[in-house]
Amino acid sequence: MTTAIYSHPDCLRHEMGEWHPECPARLQAIADQLINAHIDDLLDHREAPMADLDAIARNHTPNAIAIAQSQPHEGDDYYPIDGDTSLNRHSYTAALRAAGAAVAATDAVIDGAIDNAFCAVRPPGHHARPSVPMGFCVFNNVAVAARHALDARGLQRVAIVDFDVHHGNGTEEAFRDDPRVLMASFFQHPLYPYTDPLPVTPNRVNVPVPAGTKGDVVRQLVQDQWLPALHAFRPQMIFISAGFDAHREDDLAGMGLVEADYAWMTQQVMDIARRYAQGRIVSCLEGGYNLSALGRSVVAHVKALAEI
Ligand SMILES: [Zn+2]
Repeated sequence: MTTAIYSHPDCLRHEMGEWHPECPARLQAIADQLINAHIDDLLDHREAPMADLDAIARNHTPNAIAIAQSQPHEGDDYYPIDGDTSLNRHSYTAALRAAGAAVAATDAVIDGAIDNAFCAVRPPGHHARPSVPMGFCVFNNVAVAARHALDARGLQRVAIVDFDVHHGNGTEEAFRDDPRVLMASFFQHPLYPYTDPLPVTPNRVNVPVPAGTKGDVVRQLVQDQWLPALHAFRPQMIFISAGFDAHREDDLAGMGLVEADYAWMTQQVMDIARRYAQGRIVSCLEGGYNLSALGRSVVAHVKALAEI
């Protein structure tokens, strides 16, 4: 197996204030834990290119792109987007690197240059709506990559698995009426972004769960709800919105997953990908704010992707 890690130093230059949990140290924690786990040398490290605006525009309106290009006013450090989200002078470049990583990984996987990939990038993406950034997110990296796979690379069916603790409202909005995309997720409810859960349909298996939910319940819902939908859909490629904030040590939410749960979920996705999608998986970092738990969980996820 060749598993690539896409990242770029520009992703460390975007920051939203010293108090902010979505911080550059997240990527450093991941890099450190990959080294500590002695798997760093086994991975194919690739530099994330900046996404073309054509690729961004497949998922985002001119309004969203214009907001992402905003610069702080003179004398200010940040350009505010919402109460949780702001841009510094490096954010737009970081956002292009984050989306560019997902697109480049998609090309490399489809071309057979690598088996699968994890994009260790920020800003994250799954709250970013087609028309506006929100919730720590600027561009929806996974959605941009999925549209690239469909519209530029000619795939006909892709699945998006989202195991971040928060509802991937931006991804759901992007593909709500697109029969080419199956979205499967769980999310703590009620919790940010406080969207009303839509009914589960064959193409939208987004399952709300209460605070306190642990791995045994999540594994059961994956088996009972995600896997039958994924088998029926037969995706040609699978994208993972890989947030690790459902970990029991993460203070931004109240769920109880541990590293072994992330490994297990990744293995389930690997099984589906092997069966229908020639193993094609591109995973992109979303949330995960306890630095130790984040690093350890990414190690578990990447070990499962790389089968080491
Ligand atoms: Zn999250």
